[in-house]
Amino acid sequence: MLDLAIIGGGPAGLTAGLYATRGGLNNVTMFEMGMPGGQITGSSEIENYPGQSEIVTGMDLMENWPEQCKRFGLKHEMNQVMSVTKKDEVFTLTTADGKTQEAKTVLMATGSVPRRAGFKGEDELFGRGISTCATCDGFFYKGKEVAVVGGGDSALEEAVYLSKMCSKVYLVHRRDTYRAAPSTIAHMKAAENIEEVTNVDIEEAFGDVSGVLGLKVKSKITGEIRDLPTPGVFVFVGRNVLNDPLKQEDESFLCATNEAGEVIVDLRMRTNVPGLYAAGDIRIEASKQVVCAAGDGATAAVNIIEYIG
Ligand code: NAP
Repeated sequence: MLDLAIIGGGPAGLTAGLYATRGGLNNVTMFEMGMPGGQITGSSEIENYPGQSEIVTGMDLMENWPEQCKRFGLKHEMNQVMSVTKKDEVFTLTTADGKTQEAKTVLMATGSVPRRAGFKGEDELFGRGISTCATCDGFFYKGKEVAVVGGGDSALEEAVYLSKMCSKVYLVHRRDTYRAAPSTIAHMKAAENIEEVTNVDIEEAFGDVSGVLGLKVKSKITGEIRDLPTPGVFVFVGRNVLNDPLKQEDESFLCATNEAGEVIVDLRMRTNVPGLYAAGDIRIEASKQVVCAAGDGATAAVNIIEYIG
């Protein structure tokens, strides 16, 4: 029986693991099917993590976190948790290989995955020119023209990143105002090879067997249709939370969630189920910042230690 099972190895899960093990829990396992580090490892430029005065990649930022946790005894199991149930004060986790693991407490720190924009050709051409990770795939479009879809921080930051290696970046947005932070908008506007293509609907991504050839957009104002000659299309239109492990046999969730499926927690990261906590992007009103996810993880761990007693 684990003291604590942490599901997810991003900033929230890793920080919870660090605080829980260092705080005296002996039997803590973090379930993370991929490399620990989380979604931030796909970000190419981070300039707002406190104490990091240089711009770093997400990969660089997260590099030492798993090692630090391991030093205090956090175990890492490379397995996907498919479901979490609770009976008689004991949680049971079922993993993708069909095995089960019991735990006294569980922290959901699964975060979120990129959302699809929903235009024609997006699914068919995904991985063949359509991408949601500029750090992973930007290199393939060195010296070429690409499109970035979205108007939030992710889209603008990644557009700036891509503008440094691509000949031109079309920033394709459905409105003409952005959600991104003012400083990020300023960076984007300062890049000479970013063309803003705003107030448009995406008609389709078109291509052939080799992959994407371009993006067809239609002006919401004039109705004009334009083909952008972009073999790379990067989509950053927000994220969906990964709450599947909480789904029960009858399709209800193990704990209370809001209509977006985000887990409802209090200021101690407690859900309405005793012993079940949530931290990071999966929780309601998450700021979706690495530093906040890490803070959530620490808060959850401190309270889990107290709960176990
Ligand atoms: P976001 O802020 O939710 O922005 C999503 C963008 O995609 C919006 O501009 C939205 O348009 C557009 N969009 C949504 N659905 C679309 C669709 N189906 N077709 C076309 N466009 C669509 O998402 P995000 O940029 O991933 O950021 C998520 C959170 O992480 C935010 O809170 C953000 O501040 C934070 N974040 C922070 C940093 C940082 O601090 N360095 C970096 C990245 C992200 P509308 O504007 O018209 O709705």
